[in-house]
Amino acid sequence: MKRNVTLEYALGEGWLAPWLDGLREGRPVASTCSACGDAHFPPLRVCPTCRSRCDGWRNLGGGATILCRTQGTDGDFAMARFDGARIATIARADRLPEDATRAVLAACPDDPPFLSLVTEPRT
Ligand SMILES: [Zn+2]
Repeated sequence: MKRNVTLEYALGEGWLAPWLDGLREGRPVASTCSACGDAHFPPLRVCPTCRSRCDGWRNLGGGATILCRTQGTDGDFAMARFDGARIATIARADRLPEDATRAVLAACPDDPPFLSLVTEPRT
């Protein structure tokens, strides 16, 4: 006998809450390590540079450099490194021109939010 069961529950955002809030607002927020000063986007619990526990958050505030891109059946993706971050991240790149070398984080109101890059505004 088969039955469909629907579960409805909320998962707490836990230690990632500052990062998820940043994704919703289009602000790149990195975890930081006070021992060596590195910033990590996406956030890490342990600093890969000095192995200390990451213990803070920093709004990076800038854009990202596109390192490489790929097209898949689910859309375009890019590996990008945000200004001030030690590590790179994967993000959706559907709204970026193919020749873009720079981007900014798009605000994402979805729940949960995801990383999506858009064209850097002209100054
Ligand atoms: Zn460190």
